[in-house]
Amino acid sequence: METVLKSHCDEQHPQEAEELQRKQEQNKQLSGIKKDIEKLYEAVPQLVNVFKIKEKIGEGTFSSVYLATAQLQTGYEEKMALKHLIPTSHPLRIAAELQCLTVAGGQDNVMGVKYCFRKNDHVVIVMPYLEHESFLDILNSLSFEEVREYMFNLFKALRRIHHFGIVHRDVKPSNFLYNRRLKEYALVDFGLAQGTPDTKIELLKTTQSEGQQEDSVHHSVQRSVFGERNFNVSSSTYQENSSTKLIKQSKMIDVSSRKLVTKKKIISTKTVSSGVARKAASGCPSNLACDCYATDRVCSICLSRRQQVAPRAGTPGFRAPEVLTKCPTQTTAIDMWSAGIVFLSLLSGRYPFYKASDDLTALAQIMTVRGSRETIQAAKTFGKSVLCTQDVPAQNLRTLCEKLRGTNSSCTRSKDDTHTDSVNDLDLPVETDKQCAPKTLGKEIQHIQSCQESDGALEVKATDMKGWDQVPDDAYDLLDKLLDLNPATRITAKEALLHPFFKDMRL
Ligand code: ADP
Ligand code: MG
Repeated sequence: METVLKSHCDEQHPQEAEELQRKQEQNKQLSGIKKDIEKLYEAVPQLVNVFKIKEKIGEGTFSSVYLATAQLQTGYEEKMALKHLIPTSHPLRIAAELQCLTVAGGQDNVMGVKYCFRKNDHVVIVMPYLEHESFLDILNSLSFEEVREYMFNLFKALRRIHHFGIVHRDVKPSNFLYNRRLKEYALVDFGLAQGTPDTKIELLKTTQSEGQQEDSVHHSVQRSVFGERNFNVSSSTYQENSSTKLIKQSKMIDVSSRKLVTKKKIISTKTVSSGVARKAASGCPSNLACDCYATDRVCSICLSRRQQVAPRAGTPGFRAPEVLTKCPTQTTAIDMWSAGIVFLSLLSGRYPFYKASDDLTALAQIMTVRGSRETIQAAKTFGKSVLCTQDVPAQNLRTLCEKLRGTNSSCTRSKDDTHTDSVNDLDLPVETDKQCAPKTLGKEIQHIQSCQESDGALEVKATDMKGWDQVPDDAYDLLDKLLDLNPATRITAKEALLHPFFKDMRL
């Protein structure tokens, strides 16, 4: 039937037909972008005299970003990035984003700001343009040294913003621009930033208290991992178990239950506030006894409790355990967790590392790497009781990353290396395996695999391994400290920069 429907031309030249279709789609997209640019000139006419808007370089839920050039008096053309915020953005949010850029930006790999234009409800933030790579495109061609530099520069940016009492809340590769050739970096996008109680950013003082109280429109929108378009919405491996009611959306609850279905196991998780925090968070009279506490059911009393609210902005796969469990007091440590997830991607060559459609699935995914008992134990420290139907062990981070990257011990370690972990012993969680982007491994990795099969290939691989055969224990020690499930003991950006992993790098 399908072939009958195909045109004669398709059958004869399927590749040409495909190419034609691709070009048509491209043209349609281009004309859409051209229209957007025209609309922007109309909405903010001051831009016409200053900028030539060339192309759209980013599009998200809250903004569109364009590359533009400005004619300088010296005759030079300077490239700039124009961020057009959606007109429905709250004025305070816009002002806060701008203040983060003006006060903390322009130094230490934090993006600065040049100008800001406004007409009515249209705001355009003008920033220096940093040409950058797509993380996914370069992930498997980066040398180990480049990864080390990348992480060092990310911590530099985080140390700066944390010093100003800014919690970024959306640390991920598309918000940390990287120009590989120039070795330049910039942390962008303060659209979700919040202040610490002692923040130096005046306008974050308000958003901080607002954010602690409830999820604002911004905060309830889930952000995507790839650029800013959401390619994560459909997932075949993770399915909502049909017996689990979608109770999370309800306004009247404080617990949620999700089941994570994988090929191997079903892990069901449930989170409730424990002890004092639990009582305070619920709107339920304290004398009303609940009969589901620490079980995997949700009783009717709990269903009638007021929903727990805590800031949860950001991208699911990068959210820290305390964000996923709606811990009301969140600190700069949440950005360090996200940086840990970026590091995990870099070391394992998989991006996105975690891809979850909801918070409890994300928590279950974390458990598969960090261990269920460990997660439950850590959650206790911040007043959350997490229940998990299965006991999943913590993974050895080196073994996991080497297995995923394809650089296992037998091929890559020197003979006197004392590590004896074998990848065969690794009980790799199905979700980790499946949910990571099905990234084709780079040539050098394929080379490594062929090394594994041939005995005498050790010298050959040394030239092609880009340092991946020499990953020091310090790297995994730092990763372990970033992915500390307990935010109170998680490494800070300042401490990370002083970690032995960066011992020869200048601050
Ligand atoms: P959003 O809030 O929509 O996520 P961002 O500030 O993260 O907006 O910008 C979206 C994308 O635009 C970024 O991922 C990046 O690719 C591009 N971008 C943003 N700022 C700049 C800049 N100063 N230079 C170059 N590209 C930028
Ligand atoms: Mg962004």
